[in-house]
Amino acid sequence: MTHTAPQSRRNEPDHYDVPAHHGSYPTFALLIEQGVVVPLPRPEDERADPLKGVRSAQTYRLAPGVLPVVTGDRHLTLAGQSIQADLYRLPAHAYAALVEASPDHRAPLCLDVAFTLAREPDVNVCDVRLVLEQSAAHAPRHLDAPHLVPSTLPLKSSWLPEDTLLHMTPGGHWFVTLTFRTTWLTRPLPTERGRVALDLGLFPLTTAVHEDGRVQVFHSTPLTLPDRAGLSRAAQLLHDQIVYANGRQDAEQVTGYLFMHASTVIAEQLRIPNMDRGYVHRSRDHALLDHHHAALPQALNAARIPLYRLPAGYTSTECPHDTCRHVSPANRHGSRFICVRCGFTTDAHVVAGMNLLRRHERTARRHVRR
Ligand SMILES: [Zn+2]
Repeated sequence: MTHTAPQSRRNEPDHYDVPAHHGSYPTFALLIEQGVVVPLPRPEDERADPLKGVRSAQTYRLAPGVLPVVTGDRHLTLAGQSIQADLYRLPAHAYAALVEASPDHRAPLCLDVAFTLAREPDVNVCDVRLVLEQSAAHAPRHLDAPHLVPSTLPLKSSWLPEDTLLHMTPGGHWFVTLTFRTTWLTRPLPTERGRVALDLGLFPLTTAVHEDGRVQVFHSTPLTLPDRAGLSRAAQLLHDQIVYANGRQDAEQVTGYLFMHASTVIAEQLRIPNMDRGYVHRSRDHALLDHHHAALPQALNAARIPLYRLPAGYTSTECPHDTCRHVSPANRHGSRFICVRCGFTTDAHVVAGMNLLRRHERTARRHVRR
């Protein structure tokens, strides 16, 4: 994938892939055998594929008349068969829409209390443990409003249950793809917006470099949580959900910032080879990877802000100084950039953003000349 034009998916609904649990893999085989789900042919050419980004060896859609019933944050049924999948791993607006459209959804009580507590700076970890264990000990209930998803973005989603897909990766892992129609609520556009390049990462979360030289750095909110291994199994699952929600909330701040300040967003193509890798990451990294891969591009699409993904390569080892441009790994000293030829010094994440802006400008000029 080396195209640099923004992905044109203007009128496509949003698709989010959530991983299914290994224990449900045999159920997928049964659903296929029974014809509850049927193979969905995909075009050879990715550009012609409305499911861009969904990497799979085989995709299945629901047979006519089959609709998923969501019964929990990790649980849904298809034609009465139970499937476990991490349904809470959605952007806040999509998760809220899923819960609101699911009268059978049950969630643990007080998870929002544990979440708020864990984000407070001076909280006693024993208090967080107590709320988590109590929350895990009680039977889940139907909630009036979804928990853990404070509405921070001007996005409104509706869930399209009939467009639910299943897919299996080349590595044999199963994902449930949930589909949403998302609209952007901010009108008119904020003024004074410009091109913004993003260095997407984990530490720091994101560095945003504006074409006028301004830099905004986003960090993760620290959590106070008890050691996962010391919790009951049920509380461990809630622990993971809190960590995920925390990462999501931090990541969505970046999206909110871009809505206000960006006319165009430029980022590196992500080099995470496929989604199977997600299994080795912990919940917080899950949230950030889900955000970088799926939530951010689709939120920008809803807001009609073009996103350009440029090929990675030397973005953080090339000197961004106009008259120098010296490329050397020796320019990098951890998070510092010090050019060995001209001495230009700054943060390495800022260098990556500056180089992305320049490369985008060059690409744009080339397109104009054609
Ligand atoms: Zn230099």
